[in-house]
Formats: sequence, structure tokens, C-alpha cells
Amino acid sequence: MNIAILPGDGIGPEIVAEAVRVLDVLELPFNTESALVGGAAYEAHGHPLPDATLKLAQAADAVLFGAVGDWKFDTLERSLRPEQAILGLRKHLQLFANFRPAICYSQLTHASSLKPELIGGLDILIVRELTGDIYFGQPRGRRESPDGAFKGHPEAFDTMRYSRPEIERIAHVAFQAARKRSKRVTSVDKANVLETFQFWRDVMTEVHADYPDIELDHMYVDNAAMQLVKAPKKFDVIVTGNMFGDILSDEAAMLTGSIGMLPSASLNAANRGLYEPSHGSAPDIAGKNIANPLATILSLAMMLRFSLNQAEAALRVEAAVVKVLESGLRTADIWSEGTQRVGTREMGSAVVAALNAA
Ligand code: NAD
Repeated sequence: MNIAILPGDGIGPEIVAEAVRVLDVLELPFNTESALVGGAAYEAHGHPLPDATLKLAQAADAVLFGAVGDWKFDTLERSLRPEQAILGLRKHLQLFANFRPAICYSQLTHASSLKPELIGGLDILIVRELTGDIYFGQPRGRRESPDGAFKGHPEAFDTMRYSRPEIERIAHVAFQAARKRSKRVTSVDKANVLETFQFWRDVMTEVHADYPDIELDHMYVDNAAMQLVKAPKKFDVIVTGNMFGDILSDEAAMLTGSIGMLPSASLNAANRGLYEPSHGSAPDIAGKNIANPLATILSLAMMLRFSLNQAEAALRVEAAVVKVLESGLRTADIWSEGTQRVGTREMGSAVVAALNAA
């Protein structure tokens, strides 16, 4: 099996290097090949997703992705910005299902801004539809004026749309994921205001008929945003559209204290996928050996489980991360009084050592 390694920009290369060290220590029969993506690819080849990078990703069984983006590219025309690489990969690899677990490790309960009793033991899964909704609506491109500004434009708009098959397939993914958990799904929409999301609600309800063992409830997105901070443990699997999922998954991430801890997986119908930390390229801390590599290492574990059929190796990696947290090592983002602050590299070494010792 082949893994494409796309480190990207900012802290991407640092955190991916640690995940690759973890992969190496597992001694599994995988080939890996790296390529440039994002701003790094734009600087070298004039495009954030060069053909060679896309071909490598398409030929791979799984892609390990760091992060892309830097403020220095903000003035580029939209189609050349680093973030276009991730949208392009999602589109070309047909990655329609995004899994974002929000897990609060008992050792890190204090890192949350919520009270420990609200957050302790939190384990929810957000399933976000990733290739439809307003982010892919038509028409777009109001910003394509020569200087990239809105000068002279009387208005700007994006259109929100979902097709029946798009909703059906994400509904199946969510119900099937719930079968392996506590058999509860909350579908989040805005059916009271948006036609698209009344349709979403109706199709979710229709698909639910195939899953009598799963409990389904519907919630408006504004209420879901409130409930996530009021009583997050009431949720188990949340399924929602692209834009609401974007926002709610970041909110859920922060419940756990640090975005540096949270992995994500984006899968297509064949279970091939792209695995990346939930955070961005953090240019403010790039190159300083202070980024937390655990979200990327945990993304590697998701890759082993979902795309590479190595569930046991995934458990080993996750157990090694817990062991390192138990030993009191912390990167700056999760550091607290009484724990030992370490850098990116040292955190990676600690996970490698825990795996070797197991
Ligand atoms: P960000 O997630 O990069 O950073 C937000 C904050 O979290 C920063 O203070 C950062 O230092 C911190 N942080 C993030 N990851 C961390 C880690 N592993 N360890 C410790 N601290 C960490 O979000 P942003 O600042 O809004 O965006 C920066 C760039 O990343 C932008 O160019 C944006 O477009 C891009 N971005 C890329 C992706 C992606 O590649 N999938 C996702 C989101 C944002």
C-alpha cells in the first residue's frame, strides 16, 4: 500500500515529520512518497496543487497531510492560494465524508475552558459533509476582478445547495458510524429558515428508516452551538452540512482545550482518505519547535484504522499517546503547572519511545 505524504506550509513539515517517525517505528509494509503542496508548491511550481502532487495523491491508498496556508499568500488570486490545494484534493479524491472526533483526554481536562464535570470523558464524533453546500455552490467568483477586490461590485453572493444523493451518502456514513458507538445521531440543520436544510432534514429522516437500531434527532444549528457548550456529553454522533460542520467542529475542538490534539479523516466511498490535524498551518509558531504534533500522530492512527486496515497498529499509536500524556509531557499549547514542557521533536520522540517500550 502507498501513502502520500504532503507536509505543506507553516508547522506542517514539523508535525508531519513526527508522524512519519511514528509510522517508521511500526515497521509496516507501506511505501511512502512526499510531495509539495500549498504555498510551498506555489513557490516552487507556481500552483498550490501541482499535477505531480495530485497524481501522487490519486495513486495512494491514503494521504497524510500537514496543513497549508500563510498570510503572505493572502494577496494572491483566489485560485492560487494555498487553501485551494485542500479544496482541490477533496474534490478530485471525492472526499465527501469528514470525521472529526472531539475527545477530552482525562489528563487534559483542565485545558478546557468548561468545567471538568461538563467535559471529562467527552467523546463525540462530528461527521461533516465535505463536498457540497455553500462552499461549492454556484455562481462563485465575484472576487475575480483583476486586483482581487470588490471595487465597483454592487453585491456578492454564494449559493447553498445539496442534492439528494449527497445527503443520502453522508447519512449512511453517519448512521453506520453510530452503529459502532452509542447508536445515537443528531442531525444539525437550519430547516426553519433554509429550504436546502428542510430538504436535508427530510432526506435524513428517509434514510433513517434503514437504521431502526439507531436513534435520530434533529437540531437547529444555533441550538447545537449552544448545547455544545452547555452539555456537550449529550451528543454522540453529529452529522451536518459543510458550513455548519466547519464551524461546529472547531467549536467542539476547543471544548477539549487544544486544537493541537485533534485529528481528522476525510474519506471517499472506497475508504481511501486524506488524514490531517484539525488545525491550520499556525504560521505564528512555525519553525520554532513548539507545535503540538499529537493531532497529526492521531490522524496517522485514523489512517491506519480506516484506509490501511491496521486497526491494531492504530490502537498501539493511540495507547502510546495516552502513555506520553500520563507521563506528564506537554507541548506549550497543553502545558499546565506541574507538567513538563517539551518541543515538537521531543513529543514525537516520546511517542516513538512509548511504542518501542510497549
Ligand atoms: P491555525 O489553526 O493555524 O492556528 C490557530 C491558533 O492555534 C494559532 O494560535 C496557532 O498557533 C495555534 N495552533 C494551531 N495548531 C497548533 C498546534 N499543532 N500546536 C500548537 N498550537 C497550534 O488557524 P489560523 O491561524 O486561523 O490559520 C493559519 C493558516 O492556516 C491560514 O493561512 C489558514 O488559511 C490555514 N488553515 C489551513 C487549514 C488546512 O490546511 N486544512 C485549516 C485551517 C486553516
